[in-house]
Amino acid sequence: MDRVRVVVIGAGFGGLTVARSLAHASAPVEVVLVDRHNFHTFSPLLYQVATAGVAPDDIAPSLRGVVRRDRNVEFEMVEVVGVDFESRRVLVADGAPIAYDYLVLAAGAVSSDFGVPGVAEHALHLKSLADAIHVRRSVLCRFEASDRDPALIDDGELRVVVAGGGPTGVELSGALAELFTKVLAKDFRDLDVQRAEVVLVEATDSVLQSFSRPSRVEAVRELRARGVEIRLDAPIASVDGDGVVLRDGTRIAARTVIWCAGVQPSPLADALALPRGRGGGIAVGPDLSVETRGEVFVIGDFASAADRRGRPYPQLAPVAMQQARHVAHSIERRLAGRPTRRFRYVDKGTMATIGRRSAVAELPLRIRLGGTLGWLSWLGLHLVFLIGFRNRIVVLVNWVWNYLTWDRGNRVVMPPTELEEERGP
Ligand SMILES: Cc1cc2nc3c(=O)[nH]c(=O)nc-3n(C[C@H](O)[C@H](O)[C@H](O)COP(=O)(O)OP(=O)(O)OC[C@H]3O[C@@H](n4cnc5c(N)ncnc54)[C@H](O)[C@@H]3O)c2cc1C
Repeated sequence: MDRVRVVVIGAGFGGLTVARSLAHASAPVEVVLVDRHNFHTFSPLLYQVATAGVAPDDIAPSLRGVVRRDRNVEFEMVEVVGVDFESRRVLVADGAPIAYDYLVLAAGAVSSDFGVPGVAEHALHLKSLADAIHVRRSVLCRFEASDRDPALIDDGELRVVVAGGGPTGVELSGALAELFTKVLAKDFRDLDVQRAEVVLVEATDSVLQSFSRPSRVEAVRELRARGVEIRLDAPIASVDGDGVVLRDGTRIAARTVIWCAGVQPSPLADALALPRGRGGGIAVGPDLSVETRGEVFVIGDFASAADRRGRPYPQLAPVAMQQARHVAHSIERRLAGRPTRRFRYVDKGTMATIGRRSAVAELPLRIRLGGTLGWLSWLGLHLVFLIGFRNRIVVLVNWVWNYLTWDRGNRVVMPPTELEEERGP
């Protein structure tokens, strides 16, 4: 029997889960999983790479390794540049088009600057593994420069502005503060590391807007206890090489600005002539297929999908993974001549960690965890979801080591590649 070919674009949380679900399908399918990288990025731990807590490789398993045992799944490292929907072929930057019977678009999201001038030229981001390595290098290099010339500190060399008080901004701010006070203060004995500052700037009146009030209050208290300065109701008007300017005219001098303020669908969306929905994602129907092209499904951060009441799904890994399993089932149902079903998201809760022995977790049945209990559940959950037994062991060893010694063993500063230098800053 001829196999049906499913091409999956993007091997993030959504795409990889589709491929692995179809690996066990009863229907005769072959899967071609494509991504521009040869690794899967476990984005919840990117901030730990950025702050020297874990090594990049430990959160980025090789995709060929992950699908090695799935005989009907093939991986190709390619940059997708478009799709010819009429002839059902995926167009790639450097190679022959890839034919498909079913297509799953799971190309994720990139950072959005919301049109704020200077973000593209001067801010760092935390969306990819390369971004995290870039942040780590930049922060460590600022400390080295200040050690050579302490006068630079007056101009904000050791001040980091984190823009955006969502979970990423909160986690990064807490981890940077701990890196400065507990690790780099010991490394740089002649430097007044007390002068290093983390300023978390948030446009609304609270951090962690999607969490309950007690969790938000706890997050603010814990961040402040770690020395993070929090500026609320402080929208950023512009970013430049010397820092940020707030909408009320206040300037915060900082040589490092990390933009964690928003996302938009990957640029591939612009190359596809498909209807767009709220937030710019590809519009999909209740079963996550494109209305005019039933053989095309869209999932995760790349999709603009909503529940029965029209509320958009949050951009979270569990949403992408549940949608992925749903789409795998839908393809099997179609092949069996059965109708597809509406996707329903089962919310199992959200979490954010603030630092050592501090996290907030909001679970179903209004269960709220904070402090050490929240932190332990955060650690456990992230270990379970990290892909690869080796990675779990290595990350666990790192965490235990970091906890016992207040040290972080991943402080290598690699010179930027030519390409990174071109992209700056
Ligand atoms: C720093 C950070 C922390 C986060 N923390 C959490 C958390 O704690 N919990 C949580 O639930 N969610 C978290 N998220 C959100 C979560 O990572 C996303 O919701 C999730 O990754 C979405 O999955 P996805 O499959 O849609 O996209 P992604 O996982 O982003 O995967 C998209 C893939 O598509 C590939 N791709 C894109 N364009 C192309 C192209 N043109 N050609 C080839 N390949 C392409 C990319 O390389 C990537 O591998 C975090 C996100 C970030 C950035």
